Amino acid sequence: MTRSAPVTLFNSLTRTIEPFEPIDPTMVRLYSCGPTVYNFAHLGNLRAYVFTDSLRRMLNWKGWPVNHVINITDVGHLTSDADVGDDKMELAARSANMTIWDVAAFYTQAFKRDLAALNIIDPTLWSVATDHVQDMIAFARKIEAAGSTYELESGLYFDTSTVPDYGRLAGARGDEVMGRIAEVEGKRHPSDFAVWRRSPEGAERLMEWTSPWGPGAPGWHLECSVMSLKYLGAQFDIHTGGIDHREIHHCNEIAQNQAFTGTEKTGANFWMHNNFLIDRTGKMSKSKGDFATLPSLIDKGIHPLAYRLLCLSAHYRSELEFSVENIAAALTRLKRLVMGVAQLRAKAGELAWLRAITETRYSRGAATSYQRSVIEEGLPAAATALLARFDEAVSADLMLPRALPLLEETIALKTLTPDQRLRVLASMDLALGLELLTLDRVAMRIRPTHAQIEADAVEARLEQRKTARAAKDFAASDAIRDALAASGIEIMDGDPLGWDWKIEL
Ligand code: AMP
Ligand code: ZN
Repeated sequence: MTRSAPVTLFNSLTRTIEPFEPIDPTMVRLYSCGPTVYNFAHLGNLRAYVFTDSLRRMLNWKGWPVNHVINITDVGHLTSDADVGDDKMELAARSANMTIWDVAAFYTQAFKRDLAALNIIDPTLWSVATDHVQDMIAFARKIEAAGSTYELESGLYFDTSTVPDYGRLAGARGDEVMGRIAEVEGKRHPSDFAVWRRSPEGAERLMEWTSPWGPGAPGWHLECSVMSLKYLGAQFDIHTGGIDHREIHHCNEIAQNQAFTGTEKTGANFWMHNNFLIDRTGKMSKSKGDFATLPSLIDKGIHPLAYRLLCLSAHYRSELEFSVENIAAALTRLKRLVMGVAQLRAKAGELAWLRAITETRYSRGAATSYQRSVIEEGLPAAATALLARFDEAVSADLMLPRALPLLEETIALKTLTPDQRLRVLASMDLALGLELLTLDRVAMRIRPTHAQIEADAVEARLEQRKTARAAKDFAASDAIRDALAASGIEIMDGDPLGWDWKIEL
């Protein structure tokens, strides 16, 4: 196995697609901004992690182990980007009458459940912000000593005029960034931001720590600078986040990193951003209140990997619209793939190679090279040609929409034996994470919580309908179809893949 197609990635710093090589040739170091755990993740947030996971899987597939850190933000993220407003965690804890720790633990668990359902590989390290407050204080002292900060009544602020080219990542300069307004009394420049937020006189925060700048809490941007540099080094390979982070959060991280290292280095060679998941009303966001979550999709009978497939079907730098039609189409496509694989498996018989790789399948990406070599051993030229096209697509700035149709093409390629086709699919799926070799028809048929009928009962009614039709009793057969329709079940007569029925969305 080789990394034959060169990897190129779009770098938000230069707004161009650049060749990618890791700093340390034996390992890629990757940091992803994690969730603020004050609420459930919505589908838009999850798009960010499907993107990161496909990036990581692609790098693994190309033969690099990936040291991946994701942070959990349980302090510091305010309701406003202008350093005023409440801490989102405090607000959630007060309104739920819970401790911040309980709120954080509850939503962290929910988030990890969502990631597991989407077959997202765990990072090498989950890094929790409140575990690193002392590191943050030490970091802030260093940038204070370097002359990059100033103190106000409300805390310690970063002076963005002290770093070169502030806001380069946002494609703007200095105070132009986001046209921010100086809501904080005494800020020298509108783009300056809080490094440490001193607790207001007489008001105790739910979470506060003592510091050289008085009791208070760290600014949100500090945690990512501190944890990424601590675990991945002063200059690592790739830093990811949603495109909303390109304008403020990541500009501020870069400024802090430069002040800390005393260099112009930004902290990461590549800054990569996924575009938004939108719905008809615009960008999906938690503050809209009523938003779509993964469990709410599952409740409607939609397999979570259909959402993963939907995400993979759009390039990560394009907006993606979430709609009932789009998710239904993704579910249908996934079902067809699963059925296609099932038909190949029925013909291929025992797959010794599949057993050999199953044990390592979910373990850290380092195992991917081994798995690929087992899967791909001895494949004929027609199969390696398909894999070469797949390689080219995923290596070109993660062009997954171009890689996906190769799955259908492989399933249909009669010049390969079923076993060979399955091996090509299994290799591709290491990078895609759709579980094509293990998902089956039964697993895909999730019963919505609102469904009035169990799958077994549907199957039994379908058998009765077959008997009625054989006896040319069309009135009885139609009555069964209508009764099933009334329970939200649609019968799919003549479905080419033998998918007899589906739950209406
Ligand atoms: P948060 O929990 O709000 O800090 O966000 C977690 C991640 O989701 C960040 O990388 C955000 O940039 C990203 N994000 C937020 N909203 C969306 C959206 N509608 N589409 C895609 N990514 C998003
Ligand atoms: Zn961050």
